[in-house]
Amino acid sequence: MKKINSNGYGGKVIGAGLTLSFVIPMLSSLVPKNWTELLWLSKISFITGIAVLVLFSIWLMIEFKQDKFWNRHYKDNVSIKLSLPEGIYECQSCGNRQIKKNDKSCNICGIKFKEGGELNAE
Ligand SMILES: [Zn+2]
Repeated sequence: MKKINSNGYGGKVIGAGLTLSFVIPMLSSLVPKNWTELLWLSKISFITGIAVLVLFSIWLMIEFKQDKFWNRHYKDNVSIKLSLPEGIYECQSCGNRQIKKNDKSCNICGIKFKEGGELNAE
């Protein structure tokens, strides 16, 4: 799934949330107050808009947490060679799969592997 903070939906969702929670209630307050259906509608609009904004910020926080996790995970494992089933190894920095058991560095990207820095694929 594409992340919302990296596609165009973020701004649209915030815009919809703000429209529902503030613009529509403000516009409907310009209408004479004896129109009760509209007052009711603007309340629903406000509550829906706030809910959209709250859910959206929760979702964003979750995504930022995941980004942090993957960034750290990548940094911790970038100088490790991953052991694959056929006795070959994969460089975690560039994905080169021509790494042998005794290689100390990657011949493509040149990264030096951590001493004993080996991970099993499973
Ligand atoms: Zn490499």
